[in-house]
Amino acid sequence: MTLHVGVHVSIGGGVDKAVDRAYNYGSTAFQIFTRNPRGWMYKPLKPDEVALFREKVKRFGYDRYVVSHMPYLPNLSSPNDNIYQKSLDSLINELNRAGELGIPYLVIHLGSHMGKGFEKGKERLLNAVSTALDKVDNDVMVLLENMAGQRNSMGSRFEEIQVLLDGLSSYSDRIGICFDTAHAFAAGYDLSTSKGVEYTFNEFGEFIGFKWLKVVHLNDSRYELASGRDVHEHIGLGYIGEKGFRLILSNKEIIERPLILETPVDKKRGDLGNIMMIWYLAGVKPPSNILKRWEEYLEKDPQDKEIYENYILKM
Ligand code: ZN
Ligand code: MN
Ligand code: MN
Repeated sequence: MTLHVGVHVSIGGGVDKAVDRAYNYGSTAFQIFTRNPRGWMYKPLKPDEVALFREKVKRFGYDRYVVSHMPYLPNLSSPNDNIYQKSLDSLINELNRAGELGIPYLVIHLGSHMGKGFEKGKERLLNAVSTALDKVDNDVMVLLENMAGQRNSMGSRFEEIQVLLDGLSSYSDRIGICFDTAHAFAAGYDLSTSKGVEYTFNEFGEFIGFKWLKVVHLNDSRYELASGRDVHEHIGLGYIGEKGFRLILSNKEIIERPLILETPVDKKRGDLGNIMMIWYLAGVKPPSNILKRWEEYLEKDPQDKEIYENYILKM
């Protein structure tokens, strides 16, 4: 038994540098933005960097455990024609870029209907995803991510995601789900208790179905249950807590998937600390080659050394 777990890594210095960063953390999966996520502008990928990215993914064995995430500004459910068109263009573009990089999954947010209601948002979103998939002929899968229950947001409830999946049934081999723990918790699914975790996964199985689950975002939540606020916290230090993550990671369907952390980096903890916490809370002993990379990393950056000594070495 091994885990495919890693953090969202920066592409600073070139997209291929993201693979080195992931490798240095002892990550066995990773996620990137293919460009600055906070703007609409982008430059084409550089062919030499694309070639290096692909070569490193292969060399380090990342294979199918690489994820791309859409930038933040697009709203694929927008009632505003201008925003909608720009968002659709971004989706088409990101699908092409993921294809160039050989990344199997593109995670998308489901956007906001801006007060026009789920039905109106749904029309836009389904139209956007189907248009993009028609236009881009590659095998990148679009993963719909459950949202955090913000006002007017689309797809925070599993019932809504079921409706969206149904609307895309003719694209079933190019569609999947990314399940985000912090978003589910913020939307009212109580992942901090054993009853709540059982209920959440039952609902997930009933309305969505685990065969659609391709990627898991493991984040703790800085705000309380059903807050409707999308603010991530370090694993175990938020309202989901260590107990919650132990329960989540005891689910066989979850731990088989690529597990991506989108946790903060601050004085409390760095990325490696959260990666180690996942192995620890899953109760899976990391193989020796990973332990070696962690030790090398901690030599240079000792911030999370205590987690290594107090948790990992005692497993
Ligand atoms: Zn996301
Ligand atoms: Mn997420
Ligand atoms: Mn989020």
